[in-house]
Amino acid sequence: MKQFNKKQKNSLSSSSVKLSKWDRQYVWHPFTQMQEWEQEDPLIIEKGNGVYLYDIHGNKYLDGSSSIWVNLHGHRHLTLDTAIQEQLGNIAHSTLLGAASPPSIVLAKELVKISPKGLTRVFYSDDGSTAVEVALKMAIQYWQQQNPPQKKKKMFVRLDAAYHGDTMGSMSVGGLPLFHERFRPLLFSTIALDAPYCYRCPLHLRYPSCQTACLDPLEDVLSKRHDHIAGVIIEPMVQAVAGLITQPPGYLSHVRALCTKYDVLLIADEVATGFGRTGTMFACHHERVTPDLLCVAKGLTGGYLPLAATLTTETMYEVFLGGPEKTFFHGHSYTGNALGCAAALANLEIFKKEKTLAQVRKKSRILQALLKPLAELPIVGDVRQCGMTAGIELVKNKETREPFPLSERMGYRVAAECRRRGLLIRPIGNIVVLVPPLVATERELRQIVNIVTKSCRTLC
Ligand SMILES: *Cc1c(COP(=O)(O)O)cnc(C)c1O
Repeated sequence: MKQFNKKQKNSLSSSSVKLSKWDRQYVWHPFTQMQEWEQEDPLIIEKGNGVYLYDIHGNKYLDGSSSIWVNLHGHRHLTLDTAIQEQLGNIAHSTLLGAASPPSIVLAKELVKISPKGLTRVFYSDDGSTAVEVALKMAIQYWQQQNPPQKKKKMFVRLDAAYHGDTMGSMSVGGLPLFHERFRPLLFSTIALDAPYCYRCPLHLRYPSCQTACLDPLEDVLSKRHDHIAGVIIEPMVQAVAGLITQPPGYLSHVRALCTKYDVLLIADEVATGFGRTGTMFACHHERVTPDLLCVAKGLTGGYLPLAATLTTETMYEVFLGGPEKTFFHGHSYTGNALGCAAALANLEIFKKEKTLAQVRKKSRILQALLKPLAELPIVGDVRQCGMTAGIELVKNKETREPFPLSERMGYRVAAECRRRGLLIRPIGNIVVLVPPLVATERELRQIVNIVTKSCRTLC
């Protein structure tokens, strides 16, 4: 850690007091009860390096949430820093409306190369929510432009507890009451199905391999209403914000098969799972699934800049060719931003250079072994893992699986203990969620799990 002399220390502390005051005075934080926030000294992150974050007082923290699922190769990675600086030497941004740009062209080509086979077209946007909006709109217009038009096909099927973003369309296909219920009057209606929550599924307790059973309702809905259904949207392999709910093997490929059978589109929201997080480049790769639409964002730029993309098939693309009325009327001011695309290209270059996927596979096994003893703790009901992400479900009664009442804020309290020990994580209700940057070493993973274990013990 850098040493400050007395004068620097004084000026730093007076400026830190000012920053704390101004933050509480002027900034409205996302997903945050500001009344609570205003009563605490805000954590102000000033610097990062590798898997570490540093606050304005010089305290060092492990970035256990990858800065909310975005960071892959660590902070201040030379390849990413350099790529953005070099792009700045050319241009920061020019529009994709009526013009193209080198980084967005090359990135599209590279994304197609690494995506599930059959995805050939890239539509840029800015964040996960907008990538989902694009997919929903493309799906609707796709059915309208069939010959003959299939205008009745306009419903979406989604899973319970799904999270696809905060804009109106993405909230409509979301299923988290705390976030979405209040806005229901503004949202379009959807067909909701139970999520495959094995730990809390009565079927799962009865049948150890039950993936068919939990998809019966989907087949039922599709067989009866496919004439009215545009698509099924899911987070493949793991529902992140729902509490790291992992899907049983075969689930995803079964969903794909049902969509094909009943002629509805499959939208895979890989905003959280994309770019190596689950051990393969995309979660769809685990079961060799090609969705009709693939949404990516978070990790796309290695955690550096906001950029998103919706990938689709040649079949989908061709339906939009023809007269002006067939145009896809959608786009944002910063679509295909050159700095973002340059960062994304550097991100993919690091995957090759550092053999990130092979590393992740190795480290996932290490993480799995490290997490094992946690399951023995009296307040830990379930430990779920998918590649380099894990969810630890805290329960009041291990036997009966009775959850802690949300008012006890157990997840929050464990996270607060972790922070005291130098690890930043963001819990979801009673679930402690670990999302270390992919670059985290065995030593750093051990440190993270040790801190979580100690923090859980403190609260036992
Ligand atoms: C975070 C997330 C989104 C929303 O992405 P933003 O960039 O926050 O708009 C959508 N889908 C999934 C699965 C996510 O995890």
